Amino acid sequence: MVTIIGTVAFDSVKTPRGSFDRILGGSATYASVAASLFNPVEIVSIVGRDFPEQHLQFFKSRHIGTQGVVISGGQTFHWKGYYEGDMNQAFTQQTDLNVLLEFDPVIPAQAKNSRIVFLANLDPELQLKALHQFRQPEVVILDSMNFWIDQKREALLAVLKEVDVLVLNDQEIRQLTQKSNLIQAMHDVVDLGPKRVIVKKGEHGSMMYDGSVFSICPALPLVEVVDPTGAGDSFAGAIAGYLAQAETISDDTFRKAMLAGTLMSSFTVQGFSLDRLKTVDRSLLNETYQMLRNNVFFPDMI
Ligand code: AMP
Repeated sequence: MVTIIGTVAFDSVKTPRGSFDRILGGSATYASVAASLFNPVEIVSIVGRDFPEQHLQFFKSRHIGTQGVVISGGQTFHWKGYYEGDMNQAFTQQTDLNVLLEFDPVIPAQAKNSRIVFLANLDPELQLKALHQFRQPEVVILDSMNFWIDQKREALLAVLKEVDVLVLNDQEIRQLTQKSNLIQAMHDVVDLGPKRVIVKKGEHGSMMYDGSVFSICPALPLVEVVDPTGAGDSFAGAIAGYLAQAETISDDTFRKAMLAGTLMSSFTVQGFSLDRLKTVDRSLLNETYQMLRNNVFFPDMI
């Protein structure tokens, strides 16, 4: 089982392809839906009374356990942002933490033995509080973003000491390490605690470093990007789900998990909210895997 702690949100998003107000989003939402294609998921988060029951039913329909989702009296976390040009960067206009300010994560009893824990983008103090409730997870993955790197740097450095894998995008890892060279930044992360670091580079794919070897994963060439929101969460969520279904977890399992993440995030960006991601089944995933494979080359040159 994989447990995912993060935000369940209303997002107001504007991209060159359109704009929508208060659609379903949040780091734990995207991550859980992506992970649920591979393994049962337990989601831990908080929403307000304004959160529609139909969204909770949607989680249940994907075999995502919602016992760890607190329904509080306040307003659901709300993020407002926009993208322009190549859409590689999200510009945040508003972050209304709302019920997140009173969130005290409680891991449901049946989730405490989770093999894989994904601390999706959330206040690092809450990430640490949640992490300490698990018995002995095999792999703990953490994601964060500029908002928390900027506002809660010390708390983030504290939780980093206790995680196995850090997943960030290129701008975030530069901000965290204050190094402009990505390779140097990845070296620095391994000195901060995580055994592995995975850097997402949008349309340019992703890279992993395990303290000795770099692994490079290409992105699917896409003509149509509608809304990149949730791409990073789907990427890391699929990695968590993929690892959870593997019998043993080796370096190669991590590389395969990166492919799973790449494929799932390629669907997320093709629609607003979870519109496209939720249509993915195993056969579509396999078809897309073949497409990616056909676009990659690395022949013997010598
Ligand atoms: P990404 O995968 O990086 O595009 O994540 C997008 C999601 O992150 C959106 O659905 C937002 O609701 C959520 N989000 C935005 N700001 C924050 C924040 N400060 N903490 C946690 N989640 C956030």
